[in-house]
Amino acid sequence: MSKIVVTEPFYLGRDDCGYCHGKKDERFANEYMKSILGPSESFTIGASIQFISTQDYDDFMNMGFRRSGDFLYKTDMLRNCCRYYTIRTNCRYLKVKKNHRQVINRFIAAISDNTSPTHNSNKNRKNKPFNLEDMMTAELNSKRFKTQFQPSTFTEEKYELYKKYQVKVHNDLPEDVSESQFKRFLCDSLFKEEEINGTDEEWDSLNSWVENAVNKKNPKAQRLGPTHECYYLDGKLIAFSVIDFLPSGVSSVYFVWDPDYAHLSLGTLSGLREILMVEKLSLDYYYLGYYIADCPKMVYKGQFGGELLDVCNETYYPLTEVEPYIKNSNLFVLGAKEQTQEFHLTSKYPQSVKTKENTIPLENIVDQIYNQQTFDNAQKTVDTLSKDVKLTDEFPPVVPGLIPVAQLQELIDSGNVEQITMGFYLRNSGKLIYKNFSEMNQSERSSFIICLRVFGFIKVSRIILVVL
Ligand SMILES: [Zn+2]
Repeated sequence: MSKIVVTEPFYLGRDDCGYCHGKKDERFANEYMKSILGPSESFTIGASIQFISTQDYDDFMNMGFRRSGDFLYKTDMLRNCCRYYTIRTNCRYLKVKKNHRQVINRFIAAISDNTSPTHNSNKNRKNKPFNLEDMMTAELNSKRFKTQFQPSTFTEEKYELYKKYQVKVHNDLPEDVSESQFKRFLCDSLFKEEEINGTDEEWDSLNSWVENAVNKKNPKAQRLGPTHECYYLDGKLIAFSVIDFLPSGVSSVYFVWDPDYAHLSLGTLSGLREILMVEKLSLDYYYLGYYIADCPKMVYKGQFGGELLDVCNETYYPLTEVEPYIKNSNLFVLGAKEQTQEFHLTSKYPQSVKTKENTIPLENIVDQIYNQQTFDNAQKTVDTLSKDVKLTDEFPPVVPGLIPVAQLQELIDSGNVEQITMGFYLRNSGKLIYKNFSEMNQSERSSFIICLRVFGFIKVSRIILVVL
């Protein structure tokens, strides 16, 4: 099994939030939560990744993480002012809306030329029922438009477009946009070298997905790894999509478009096109990153339909089902009311939770977390644990989606913790040492427990922690 090489995860609070700019004081429905938490703040759990397989990243994404360059992070779903729900969709969830149809029709008209069959069929399109797949046929027939999939490496052409986009669309100052920042953000990744480079078969297969889909041929190989898809119109780069191909689907990282082509709504178009590509490549899901229900910038994501991740249970629920729970920046955790308090944070037992779902009707049990008793119990556990291991104050005792401290205690008390070994890579000496719990010193135990809480029981035994 491949290793996961990381630096020690950290927990960081900031009074600045890029989405709501500190305007969410009413985020807790419950008086207790209001009493223990201050005003709007954002809280990130993150780690620098040196090396990871696409399969492990896929798993982490389904635990609520995302990557930015080679930085892996998620937010504290309890305390963060904006709730960052992992959202994914596919053709089954997609209900094509009027604005989607308009975007596709405009795109088809824009890429057709007078001689192409696409153009001739334009006149009749109004009478024809809308079909998302017309987009592929139009692309295949167009001599003016093409896309090209390529490794996520730096080129001058992509950088120039990125700069134009950041300055004009995001109002960045030109001096703040640099080549190194572009590389860190959209070219660097945390994946293995061979996955970054890909094989000729993978690239050929991707670059002919439209042709294969129209001709109903199966692709030759599935690409795994970070990828740029460049959109060219009349030979000019007008957009590029930064995506990760993963075992369970395609994850959208970022999309850059030329402001001169704003009328083509290329962001929406690329979303629809990538959902269709996922379907045609027989992949399961299209991951759109995070969804913040009350953030206007994110409305477009909800329009593609899909499902949201419940980080406590590591289970997805349809957006339409959980929509009532997430209004006003609220958190949802689905469970059965009669279950014990330990249940709502049991990422340890995703299987048993799934079994229970079939028999017990689920409802939002988040109030079991918004509860003084939960906090007091967790604090008591941390105090008891401190005999064996010094837990840093950095991570709060209750964080949805991290392994609950009660489960850590159970693991240590039962002695089962001895079955796990973790690697420590000493950067200064270049040595790699594997240790189990009894062999670790105090600070190693502390690091081990943090990795265990953040990355979970299954992943921790394959972790190599980079230390000084
Ligand atoms: Zn916010």
